[in-house]
Amino acid sequence: MRTREGTAVFGALREEIEGLKAADLYREPRVFEGKADRVVVKGGRELVCLASNNYLGLTADEALMQASSDAALRYGTGSGASRLVSGTMAPHVELERALADFEGTEAALLFGSGFAANLGTITALAGRDDAIYSDGLNHASIIDGARLSKARLEIYAHADASDLERRLSGNSANPGRRRLIVTDGVFSMDGDVAPLPEILQLADAYGAWVIVDDAHASGVIGAGGRGTADHYGVESERLIQLGTLSKAFGGEGGFVAGPSVLVDYLRHRARPFVFSTAPSPATVATALAALRIVRDEPERRLRLRRNSDVLREGLRSLGYSVPGETTPILPVMVGEPGRAVALSEALEEEGVLAPAIRPPTVPSGTSRLRVTAMATHTDEDLDRVLEAFRKARPRGF
Ligand SMILES: *Cc1c(COP(=O)(O)O)cnc(C)c1O
Repeated sequence: MRTREGTAVFGALREEIEGLKAADLYREPRVFEGKADRVVVKGGRELVCLASNNYLGLTADEALMQASSDAALRYGTGSGASRLVSGTMAPHVELERALADFEGTEAALLFGSGFAANLGTITALAGRDDAIYSDGLNHASIIDGARLSKARLEIYAHADASDLERRLSGNSANPGRRRLIVTDGVFSMDGDVAPLPEILQLADAYGAWVIVDDAHASGVIGAGGRGTADHYGVESERLIQLGTLSKAFGGEGGFVAGPSVLVDYLRHRARPFVFSTAPSPATVATALAALRIVRDEPERRLRLRRNSDVLREGLRSLGYSVPGETTPILPVMVGEPGRAVALSEALEEEGVLAPAIRPPTVPSGTSRLRVTAMATHTDEDLDRVLEAFRKARPRGF
């Protein structure tokens, strides 16, 4: 059969793609060989990986790989249906119980991804008559969920509790039926932590509910690795805990943890839960194995913290600007997009993978390398990284 080209029909798309190329924003997929691990292989070359969200290195963990293949052999490759039809198997129930226990909530609900969890939860909880207060740097899945909900959207200045309060109090004449404050717990490009204690106080004062999206916080921060609330040691009945299984947990999937009444409601009203095939048994078993490690092996989190500190201090002593203290996300601020790309390329020549992040992902003038530490990086890996940054620096950084 001849390959169809569609040049005439889809010509308008080609024009947009040409526009991306002209603006230096076109992206080729980069193909890696082998596992996502502390070291990745590209074009036959090993590169120390500073470019993932695989904070604990669990994607390459023997126990997880074993759990995944055991579950596939026992339960098959797919769940065959959505959760409310015939897709719920023993591992799904076990994982939701384990997630609730981990988060210290009554119940939890599993989604196919963190993106789906945000979309499903926000659209189920807020509608046309409601108001959503969203941090200016929130993740795309929160923004899309808020838009899709048709609620009135108030975007408050990043991590700025006083701007949030101004907006909450300013709308007292038209408070909305329901008020939902949504924030990333740890922000993906800056690595800073949302001011959750202040947000929860405001939620109390103004009768709002709070969703904290702990995609980069679950398994990473907090004494028990439970994320942002754990980090600050705060609790609240108003808090809805959202997380992903695709980052520190080394697999895929998303979840919401909270009171039974909330989870019961979402089971009926969160459309990506109701109308999507249940995650595969292997995916679910992988998450269960990851959860056990996060719960029982805090030393991995301590090692992550230590590796983050070594990299942060090392980069600073080389003269790089690296804001932040708490998380394994280290933004190495460069400024202009061309310089960020050049630094990233120079590092890759030295065997280090660190992606350049440019507008529109970050504000103009704040192009950076987004460096992430992993618990499994060895001391030799860290030495190699700092040596590569040292060598790259005299070339104009
Ligand atoms: C990655 C991310 C998501 C999406 O999670 P996936 O499981 O990858 O779909 C949601 N929120 C935030 C803040 C994220 O960083």
